[in-house]
Amino acid sequence: MVETSSGGGSGPHASEIDDVLSAVAKEARAYLESLDERPVRSSDLETALESFAGRLPEEGSGAVDTLEKLTSRGMDAAIHSSGPRFFHFVIGGVTPAALGAEWLGSVIDQNPGLWIASPLGGRLEVLSIAWLLDLFELPPEWGGVLTTGATMANYVSLACARHWCGQRQGIDVEQQGLRALRPIKVLSSGYIHASATKAVGMLGLGRASILKVARDDAGRVDLEGVERHLASFDGDPAIVIANAGEVNAGDFDPINEMADLAQSYGAWLHVDGAFGLFARISPDTIDLCKGVERAHSVTADGHKWLNVAYDSGFAFVSDPALLRESFGVSAAYLTPGGENQPDFGFMGPEMSRKARGLAVWATLNAYGRSGYRTMVERHLALARRVARRVEEADDLELLADVKLNIICFRLHPPGLSEEQLDVLNARVGDAVLADGRVFVGTTSYRGKVAFRPAIVNWRTTEADVDLLVDTLRALGERLRTSG
Ligand SMILES: *Cc1c(COP(=O)(O)O)cnc(C)c1O
Repeated sequence: MVETSSGGGSGPHASEIDDVLSAVAKEARAYLESLDERPVRSSDLETALESFAGRLPEEGSGAVDTLEKLTSRGMDAAIHSSGPRFFHFVIGGVTPAALGAEWLGSVIDQNPGLWIASPLGGRLEVLSIAWLLDLFELPPEWGGVLTTGATMANYVSLACARHWCGQRQGIDVEQQGLRALRPIKVLSSGYIHASATKAVGMLGLGRASILKVARDDAGRVDLEGVERHLASFDGDPAIVIANAGEVNAGDFDPINEMADLAQSYGAWLHVDGAFGLFARISPDTIDLCKGVERAHSVTADGHKWLNVAYDSGFAFVSDPALLRESFGVSAAYLTPGGENQPDFGFMGPEMSRKARGLAVWATLNAYGRSGYRTMVERHLALARRVARRVEEADDLELLADVKLNIICFRLHPPGLSEEQLDVLNARVGDAVLADGRVFVGTTSYRGKVAFRPAIVNWRTTEADVDLLVDTLRALGERLRTSG
């Protein structure tokens, strides 16, 4: 039975659901089957995008018609960043288990802000955090929350740091405000991520309180400089941010040495491991993260290397009580959960919040430690393959050692000046995005325009990374010969 749902001012109707589910499942199947072959960017993107316009309709067209419109035009307007050849930024795909759980999550639409509102969401968030701590070999007594991403995980972590620094000054910063606090300095290397800077700003600590103590133009930390700063604070607590995986070349700060300094001078140590924390999963790369278990807080992303859909991130803290001390509130109508029934709305910035634990739990349950280890090691091998091809080619130049899953390199045909190389690489950077077969971004690394593909998608194969290298070389060749 299909009733009409349009016209007559009719609102949502249960009779639409069956058609909506069938239509979406059919489209989803076709889309996902074609994802490995699709260009990242459809040549029809602009026109498809323009079809979404016009005024708010007085009478809606109903769910079935609307979803037909969304699937027929929306798929071309979308960037296929969950496919295997999206190497720009650090954007993961979606595993089948995560996809299924995510879908089911919107069917049951849970809000684990309060345990009582979604025991299922709460329970799976508790379990997700415990399993992630295990996966990353962090102490089981730590706590955490699931967030929208690493930016908010940095925010949560640094809010706990701010609270902890306040306690050391005898101040309750949430109650008394920043004006009661002596300024808190934040020390990091040149590798600090823009999102940590943003979080420091949002917390009112002042972006200018961040000191980037680097010893070279790549941004590598100057440990002696960090120590000199810490010694100069006269015992006032500071925050040290160590970076596990920076975005230009995938390099790591020496976390263990920074942990020594934080310990000696009584500073908070935060580690931003948005994607780099996954180095912990493989014996090949585990040493890059040595000392992360000594941190007070750690950030990682779900929507990057875990391959869970947007938006998903994790904040871990060594002292779980700090989450409630920083974010807890009460109101007459809010009923707190009991023992082992955490209300995640009192442990992070949002009260009402999505049940992110469903997808995180599902993908970890489906593939386990060994499934993730295999995937990470496959990606490490792909990154090394790209590096090898770059080193073998006479028109390419590797700009940094490959530590993890990012390869920093540039086109470097013989006979061009530095200035001409920058122009060429920037033009190829524009051309590759317009071409659409592979997506990769440029950066400025040690003053040079460079490519920095990141490999994090479970679908990516050798053929995909080979196409990346071949496409960049071919576009470079074409741009040079056409002048
Ligand atoms: C991506 C990234 C972030 C920000 O994460 P979002 O998930 O985009 O909020 C923070 N730090 C590092 C090192 C990153 O790579």
